[in-house]
Amino acid sequence: MTVIKLLEKVENALEKDLCDHCLGRLFAQLGTGITNAERGKSLRISYAMFTSEEQRKEVPEEPENCELCSDLFNEVEKFADLAAGDLQEYEFRDFLIGSRIDPEIEENEEKIWTELNLTTGEPIKSEVNREVGKLVQEMIEKEVNLETPDIKAIIDTRFDSVDIEISPLFIYGRYKKLSREIPQTKWTCKRCRGKGCDKCGGTGKMYETSVEEIIGGPLVEMTSGKDFTLHGMGREDIDAKMLGDGRPFVIEIKEPIERKIDLKKFERMVNESEMVQIHSLEFTEKEKVVELKQARAIKTYRVDISLKEAIEGARFKKVKYELVGQEISQRTPRRVDHRRADKIRKRKIRDLKLISMESTSMTLDITCDAGTYVKEFVHGDEGRTQPNLAEMFETKCEVDKLDVMKIHYPEGEKDEKI
Ligand SMILES: [Zn+2]
Ligand SMILES: [Zn+2]
Repeated sequence: MTVIKLLEKVENALEKDLCDHCLGRLFAQLGTGITNAERGKSLRISYAMFTSEEQRKEVPEEPENCELCSDLFNEVEKFADLAAGDLQEYEFRDFLIGSRIDPEIEENEEKIWTELNLTTGEPIKSEVNREVGKLVQEMIEKEVNLETPDIKAIIDTRFDSVDIEISPLFIYGRYKKLSREIPQTKWTCKRCRGKGCDKCGGTGKMYETSVEEIIGGPLVEMTSGKDFTLHGMGREDIDAKMLGDGRPFVIEIKEPIERKIDLKKFERMVNESEMVQIHSLEFTEKEKVVELKQARAIKTYRVDISLKEAIEGARFKKVKYELVGQEISQRTPRRVDHRRADKIRKRKIRDLKLISMESTSMTLDITCDAGTYVKEFVHGDEGRTQPNLAEMFETKCEVDKLDVMKIHYPEGEKDEKI
């Protein structure tokens, strides 16, 4: 915009009764590093300096009553006091100020933009948030965080009230599940949908507890939070143990009052349970949940297998030689038929390791791609998985027990034969 053009626009704006904030904000996108109030004041001065060639002209004064904001900016300190007061009751590292402005004021502002044909303005809400934020920052000595604040204070400028929105707390770790009787997450009773009935003994749940509840319970107490959700990197079956160094997870606590909790203490509290153990805890952000959900980690399973007839060690070696490094094709298993579309998945067998073999039973470590149906790879699922161990051993195989031994995550870990 040329200077002449700008002065023309300023001249039109000065015909309205606008405070320095509102005047400056109409041109907010011109020049950074100063406040709208400073910009407004300097526009008044520039106008007086550059439009009077003949004689000195007086700098137009800021009017008493602003027709755009109804002098809202006189109340900024009061809003900051209110917000700071309410924020004191919580524990947080950083914060953000939001606001609800009288809709009439916002409409008013847009009308003026149109009338003066301006595209350089900034919405009043942004300025209120920023100016209140600056004051609160000084008052409570904590930083504003525009991206991922721990907490938000939303000011309603009409009613002088503040709503506090607490961001969830996310903690990353790995869990071991030592029980074959609990699911990963809370499982609501199908019949009563959580209300409590005869079938579930009034608990509203299909299982007494879960990995999620054992981890989330102590944490919700320590943080005085409202509720919790476990985000696992995949899940094991209820009757499978999760062993080795455990499965990566993020536990999310909703509306925590306290955030700076002692992770070691949290770990000890969970580990008092005989069913679940956790370790390697650290504070994390929401993005970690997405990362875990997208990860496609290779896994190692320990499988106890019953064979109809004993096989010789030499046969096992031959089968291992033929299978390791090969892809298998798996049609959607019979046991999940009703829930998923029938399609063929290709997965790679990465390693087979014989742990023990005794006549008609063997224990095997199977390392394979994410999403491999391991039980089906063992028994063949009536030929729906090809190749499979039963066919290659030339005897019927049944899975007695299956545990997850290792989740190869993060990638790039030093793993043998992968
Ligand atoms: Zn104003
Ligand atoms: Zn029920």
